Amino acid sequence: MPERRIVVPPEHLFPADEWGIVEARWTPTYAARAETALALSNGYLGVRGIPDEGRPVLAPGVFINGFHETWPIIHAEDAYGLARVGQTIVNVPDASIIELFVDDEPLSVLTARTAEYCRRLDMRRGVLERELLWATPSGKHARVRSTRMVSFEHRHVLAVSYEVTLDRPAPVVLRSRVVNRANAGHQASGAAMNDPRIARRLGRRVLEPRVVERHGQRLVLGYRTVESAMTLGIVVEHVLDVASPHEVSGTADADASEVVVTVDAQPGVPVRLVKYAAYQTSRTVDAGELVARCHRTVDRVAAAGFEALLATQRGCLDRFWDRADVTIEDTVRHPVRMQQAVRWNLFHLAQATWRAEGSGVPAKGLTGDAYDGHYFWDTETWVLPFLDYTQPRIARNLLRFRHGMLAKARARARDLDLRGALFPWRTIAGDEASAYHLAGTAQFHLNADIAYAIRRYVDVRGDTRFLEETGAEILVETARMWVDLGFYGHDGCFHIHGVTGPDEYTAMVDDNAYTNLMARLNLRYAAASLRRLRAERPTAFAGLTVELALDPSELDEWDRAAAHMHVPVDPDRGIIPQDATFLTHERWDMSDPAAAQFPLLLHHHPLTMYRRQVLKQADVVMAMFLLGNEFEVEQKRRNFEYYDPITTGDSSLSASIQSIVASEIGATDAACGYLDFALLMDLADVSGNASDGVHIASAAGGWMALVFGFGGVRDFDGELTIDPRLPARFRSLAFSLRFQDRQLRIRIDHDEEHYLLDDGAPLDVTIRGRRHRLTTGDALRLSAVGAWEGP
Ligand code: BGC
Repeated sequence: MPERRIVVPPEHLFPADEWGIVEARWTPTYAARAETALALSNGYLGVRGIPDEGRPVLAPGVFINGFHETWPIIHAEDAYGLARVGQTIVNVPDASIIELFVDDEPLSVLTARTAEYCRRLDMRRGVLERELLWATPSGKHARVRSTRMVSFEHRHVLAVSYEVTLDRPAPVVLRSRVVNRANAGHQASGAAMNDPRIARRLGRRVLEPRVVERHGQRLVLGYRTVESAMTLGIVVEHVLDVASPHEVSGTADADASEVVVTVDAQPGVPVRLVKYAAYQTSRTVDAGELVARCHRTVDRVAAAGFEALLATQRGCLDRFWDRADVTIEDTVRHPVRMQQAVRWNLFHLAQATWRAEGSGVPAKGLTGDAYDGHYFWDTETWVLPFLDYTQPRIARNLLRFRHGMLAKARARARDLDLRGALFPWRTIAGDEASAYHLAGTAQFHLNADIAYAIRRYVDVRGDTRFLEETGAEILVETARMWVDLGFYGHDGCFHIHGVTGPDEYTAMVDDNAYTNLMARLNLRYAAASLRRLRAERPTAFAGLTVELALDPSELDEWDRAAAHMHVPVDPDRGIIPQDATFLTHERWDMSDPAAAQFPLLLHHHPLTMYRRQVLKQADVVMAMFLLGNEFEVEQKRRNFEYYDPITTGDSSLSASIQSIVASEIGATDAACGYLDFALLMDLADVSGNASDGVHIASAAGGWMALVFGFGGVRDFDGELTIDPRLPARFRSLAFSLRFQDRQLRIRIDHDEEHYLLDDGAPLDVTIRGRRHRLTTGDALRLSAVGAWEGP
């Protein structure tokens, strides 16, 4: 991968803090990044980290997972079966805003003389806090404290506590607003207008108002999207804690509602406003019903109070960190910064998934609308491994959600004259939303990525019931798709033609090695799982055969295709060609400055890349990791050494995978470099688009690079194996794994390794090739082999 400078923000503006992200001063240079870094969400509802006043903002946004508008995809040159329904996540009305006026002068982080200022995302408590001291134009001092939260426990709730204390008497006005930006066609900042990765602006009215009311201190709003006919309800309650005389007024409006509190503030007497907002969305019930639900939610949370919300938030995060925390001691980069980066990535994984029931995980979580809020293979291949080992319940929900798309995936397969099911490359509602089919629908590998994710979840959790109830159906339909997509050539081998692999700088090729290898796994695993089911649960198997019209001979057909799968090897170089013609292409000249402007996708026509050897992201190397038990270390080394110099890393998904494979082959410098890249992707804005939202797959990739890369954890064939490979740069690495209902704690340094089973029945683990039986409470200590220098 080409050199990329990793520059972390300056210490005086963003001081290092291992449990927080601290903004010591608001600056325009870092404002858009801070909106991303300080975003809050719970997997259902997300709000970007804009200032409390709602100004100045660069790319404001409040998003609800799955709440989207549709639009017809118009192909300038149409063809049969192209994607028809565009889907874009909606920027819903923002209830987080509270403006402050003292002596009728507005507080703004832009103009205010704020003697003291600190905004901090507290990753242990799950809140964004701000405290500042404002020297007002009339010479008074106002201490302003706010706490914003998106509740993990109450998935519909966003709450803000806002408190002002003056040193001299003055009129104080708090203007609490709900601002609708959905119809404004807002353009995300920072990103180039022609960047295909940012969200589509519909440039028209998206939300039609259905309910617009104010009842005293309560605002009540209901909407319906114009095309997708989804409904949204919002209720915002205000609770005042004010000893001084005050008045409340306000207006309800579909685009800008407000409740205004005017107080004769007295010195030293705090004025406190707590704002509780509930959001609900639906595809089926009307906005009036949603509003009724929101009333009940705000009644309940307002009665319990803000402190109760804080307590439950802390409880959820304690549970999260107990399973998910990873600690590293870095000796090269600022150790606190690195620990902060590790935790920030993990925290955003919690935020992207905790309450993602009944939906997927958008590529940016709910921290931005880039990629239109779509779900990709990012979820199955990056996010799920983290969840399998830390929050398996959420992993199962996400796989169930995928299963819920099966009917549409079956229909999509028919569009392409295929049997079985073909999952959409990118989607919200289950329909293929990728208008550019060469880098979209042609990525058939997604089917196998989903099968692989089922395999890993079932093995890591030991949840065979899931396989029977949900997974088997997907395995059958994906296997059917592969046998129909491929064919037997004159050489007797099974070939798969006309596909795009993970590397989107190469498209529509024959025998993409990654695709063939993963399809082979899909076919084998489907056949083996169904055979096991037939032997162990004959009634369930019989049920499936009826339901899916499954002929038992299909299993043999899958095995036969897998056994004959074409996986070429280049005899001269001893590597796997990425596809049938890849190695015949001219190599991209990375040393030519004109050809080395990254990301290439913003500077070159796709065809310029397609005819050359240049990769957007790991492809064969990805297979070396996912199917690591099918290759020798030497093969991995040769493939890594060949492909790595021509891999641009223009996709943020790549670095973590390159780090893991580099770790395994002993390329520790490269492994560390890619780890930095993945962990600091957004905090150091390595790709220049952190303002568009968190790269969720990269965040999960950071965890993978640490646990699978340096920790050397693998789970092939349901066996837990650990081969620690701690580079000299790190003094220690500690992490936890949930494996088959048992909690394992691991700490590795260069002298000693420590394995502790916290609970559950004894567990067999293979460590550095030797099998050990761990029993609860008994720590296994092994002397380590020193710093990892390669196999
Ligand atoms: C990558 C895909 C990925 C998508 C969403 C693209 O740039 O090439 O592999 O799924 O981003 O993160």
